[in-house]
Amino acid sequence: MYMTDTPKDQVDALTARGVRKTYEAENAPVRALRGVDLVVPHGEFIALMGPSGCGKSTLLNLVAGLDTPDEGSIFVSGEEVTGRSEDDLARLRRRHIGIVFQFFNLLDGMTVLENVALPAVIAGRSRRAAESRARDLLDLLGIAEKAGAVPGVLSGGQRQRLAIARALANEPTLLLADEPTGALDSEGGLEIAELLGRLHEGGQTILLVTHDAGVAASAQRIVQMQDGRILGAAATDSPLATAAGSSGGPSGA
Ligand code: ADP
Repeated sequence: MYMTDTPKDQVDALTARGVRKTYEAENAPVRALRGVDLVVPHGEFIALMGPSGCGKSTLLNLVAGLDTPDEGSIFVSGEEVTGRSEDDLARLRRRHIGIVFQFFNLLDGMTVLENVALPAVIAGRSRRAAESRARDLLDLLGIAEKAGAVPGVLSGGQRQRLAIARALANEPTLLLADEPTGALDSEGGLEIAELLGRLHEGGQTILLVTHDAGVAASAQRIVQMQDGRILGAAATDSPLATAAGSSGGPSGA
């Protein structure tokens, strides 16, 4: 069940408090998260970095409600993610969360346009409205001319643009991206990073997991993780960081 928490939990895009997660493994339990606190104000673009196995994906999955923490609470836009039924969680996810993975997860039997329109159709919009928004998103992401193609014919970079367009279909509060450049070459990766930067300039709140410092540089703030904990945050030298990072508040974009 969820309940009203402190006013701060109502205002930020994401509030995670005291989040712990242990996986039962064959030999010994794996303490993937050992007490994580993280606040992402609306409009902020945070890159989460750290060595492989430090818990980044686990944290993202918990924020998305794909898995549940053992302890702690997670609020997205004031709504508690933890302790909900599957149906209720699916509704919250549709309303607030867009998620992009390393390996695209596209539906190859559908066109590019249908892939992007699908989440909005599932959320109850008419096909016409969903496809109209999908066209706008494809345009925004620079792949409008691929609307009628199937994902299989796209390059890796185009597939990731498509995956991002689909993640934005329901205007999510929070865009989560788990190593979105991991399957791309460095040039393709930087294009995606630049694109995320532009979405952020347009007001999108983003939580990006990456091990690539060049990609992380597109974010406003870099948060380092190690051994299931958050170490400390540093502002990047991106222009947006200097504009908004020092105040610690939302960018107002
Ligand atoms: P990162 O994303 O930083 O590479 P992960 O969050 O994927 O790290 O993993 C954190 C730790 O939890 C690792 O030791 C990983 O092996 C372990 N882990 C992740 N998911 C599972 C799972 N489903 N079952 C068992 N162990 C897991």
